[in-house]
Amino acid sequence: SIGMAKSKFEYVRNFETDDTCLKNCYIVVRLDGRNFHKLSELHKFLKPNDDRALGLMTRCARSVMEDMDDIIISYGQSDEYSFIFKRSSNWFKRRASKLMTHVVSQFSSSYVFYWKEYFGDQPLLYPPGFDGRVVLYPSNRNLRDYLSWRQADCHINNLYNTVFWTLVQRGGLTTTQAEDRLKGTLAADKNEIMFSEFDINYNNEPLVHRKGTALIWEKVLTPLSQMEETVTKRVKLPNEDEKEVPVTRFRRRVSACHCDIIGDQFWEEHPDILED
Ligand code: ATP
Ligand code: ATP
Ligand code: MG
Ligand code: MG
Ligand code: MG
Ligand code: MG
Repeated sequence: SIGMAKSKFEYVRNFETDDTCLKNCYIVVRLDGRNFHKLSELHKFLKPNDDRALGLMTRCARSVMEDMDDIIISYGQSDEYSFIFKRSSNWFKRRASKLMTHVVSQFSSSYVFYWKEYFGDQPLLYPPGFDGRVVLYPSNRNLRDYLSWRQADCHINNLYNTVFWTLVQRGGLTTTQAEDRLKGTLAADKNEIMFSEFDINYNNEPLVHRKGTALIWEKVLTPLSQMEETVTKRVKLPNEDEKEVPVTRFRRRVSACHCDIIGDQFWEEHPDILED
């Protein structure tokens, strides 16, 4: 405010509670679509996986990553996305409600803003909402287990949904009959139903459906000719005058992958994501 004097009402600010996230922990913000079971039916999402809807979710997550500082990796599936802030982040002084509301509101407005890029002339029938939560993980192992948990959830749900909708769409079962048929079945039973009755090898289903989507930062070398302005740095070598030299500049770009993030391979290939 412009005035220096405090009003007599100012004391109410002291009712605000401290929600600073513990130092040194990874901060995870997970959001999830509100009542997307209904939203997906109303907007005639293809079952079990509507690629327009998945593409839109990932477009929104990209917008969040590009607009916020310090997000090192995001992971999404179905109507949810998780955003992981680096453990040393001091964005908004690590205030949980600030971080969470910025992520969730940026994501929600992006969902509306980019809707027509994915659904064309099909209108969005009401303003969708998302819930959010913040969870802290103190170790790399805990954070990896968190991401593994979300990817395992993606796998379990997708396996169930794939066989369920195959029974309905190709097997002619009602949804109730398909539900009964799958009651008590194990993963191997579900694979067997698809393989023997419908000639579907689950392992050949699209990776984006089986693994979800991880968004990471990729370093791109920017050629000098493509820079808006040449970047230089003043250096002083012994026995020489200080001079300007061109420096190599990397630009960061969000890149999507639909790979396994449970095993070690992904983390060995991307050693920069997690800090010590
Ligand atoms: P922060 O992200 O920290 O909130 P901010 O730029 O939004 O930064 P605020 O203190 O929230 O800062 O102030 C909002 C600013 O938006 C006002 O200072 C004013 O300049 C502008 N603003 C908001 N509503 C109106 C309006 N109806 N008409 C004109 N200006 C407006
Ligand atoms: P809540 O508000 O508690 O989250 P919800 O209806 O959103 O309720 P979820 O457990 O989040 O329940 O499940 C999301 C549902 O949205 C899925 O069960 C599925 O029916 C639907 N859905 C989300 N994304 C897609 C998609 N890409 N294709 C088809 N259906 C989808
Ligand atoms: Mg839920
Ligand atoms: Mg939901
Ligand atoms: Mg969900
Ligand atoms: Mg403001």
